[in-house]
Amino acid sequence: MRNFAYLRAGSLTEARQAAAHPAAMLLAGGTTLLDLAKCGVAAPDRVVDISHLGGLDTIALDEHGVSIGALARMSWVADDPGIRRYFPAISEALWQAASAQLRNMATIGGNLMQRTRCPYFRDPAAFPACNKRTPGSGCAAIGGVTRNHAVLGTSASCIATYPGDLAVALAAFDAEVDLGARRVAIDDFFLLPGTTPEREHAIEPGEVITAIHIPASPAARRSTYLKVRDRQSYEFAAASAAVGLELAPDGKTVADIRVALGGIATKPWRARGVEHALKGKALTTEAIEHAAHIAVEGAVDHGSNRYKIDLAPRVVARAILTVGGLA
Ligand code: FAD
Ligand code: SF4
Repeated sequence: MRNFAYLRAGSLTEARQAAAHPAAMLLAGGTTLLDLAKCGVAAPDRVVDISHLGGLDTIALDEHGVSIGALARMSWVADDPGIRRYFPAISEALWQAASAQLRNMATIGGNLMQRTRCPYFRDPAAFPACNKRTPGSGCAAIGGVTRNHAVLGTSASCIATYPGDLAVALAAFDAEVDLGARRVAIDDFFLLPGTTPEREHAIEPGEVITAIHIPASPAARRSTYLKVRDRQSYEFAAASAAVGLELAPDGKTVADIRVALGGIATKPWRARGVEHALKGKALTTEAIEHAAHIAVEGAVDHGSNRYKIDLAPRVVARAILTVGGLA
């Protein structure tokens, strides 16, 4: 048993001040923090409870887009009529994440901050080498069991997959993370491992996610999230795709398309090459299947995760065919 101080923040300002302490961690739904504390990865000296703070759990939709409070629960957002209508991929990504109990407890801010499911990272007693957990200690996964590891965005220091679903859909639709004093584009919020895999998010001590903002667009309105996994529920993605589509008035030409991938990269992966290949072209099965392969350009496998390089283009193609009404 490791002792820590518990602080119930009285306000957002107090939460920020307390979170500025180097060994402090925020507590929202607690579903990730407690998990990581139990397996010995998270060891906060100070837990700053923000779960009760008012005004951070709203979902505000207008013609410009939607702002989702950081303390909104995953299940509320998934089931919100406006989200389902104008951002179906967001709703579908949330519905396919975790379990009903977790979705009822877990918050949107906590979801963005979840950490990798790399089994070596989560088992410090058995695997001391993990650059993400202990910088400079090595990487037990490289040369180990890699079935769930990433094939895109990896480095010699870390090949851990980004595990979440929501952020993949957010990446497709250019969402922004609101940190109060500044907003960060979702693509910049998640960091590649490079030589500093311990740093996963562009958030500084003392910053608190207050909301995410997603701009409205025809592509977001006509969108879907496809998740392929080892079992149908309560499982992380082997490969997933968030796709949004806007057709030109002729009903055939791609006016706008958004594609992002999950389960195969070290961060939510926007597949701009696929988008460029299809924009302005007629939406045909052949064009889609050809473009989908661009999603894994530059992919590098580590043995047993090789299947992801074959799987991901199929998931992308399937999602585009579905949203285009060609499946
Ligand atoms: P907490 O545990 O309270 O916090 C998590 C982290 O975020 C902590 O470091 C905390 O300090 C920080 N934090 C929380 N709120 C803020 C904030 N506002 N600003 C800054 N930092 C903050 N996710 C998926 O996407 N797909 C899945 O399939 C999936 N399956 C899961 C299966 C299991 C068994 C479990 C345990 C989790 C799974 N998850 C999955 C992850 C789940 O979605 C996250 O645990 C959850 O979203 C975290 O939210 P929380 O509010 O409980 O976060
Ligand atoms: Fe750690 Fe990353 Fe290697 Fe997993 S892949 S053991 S998280 S350094």
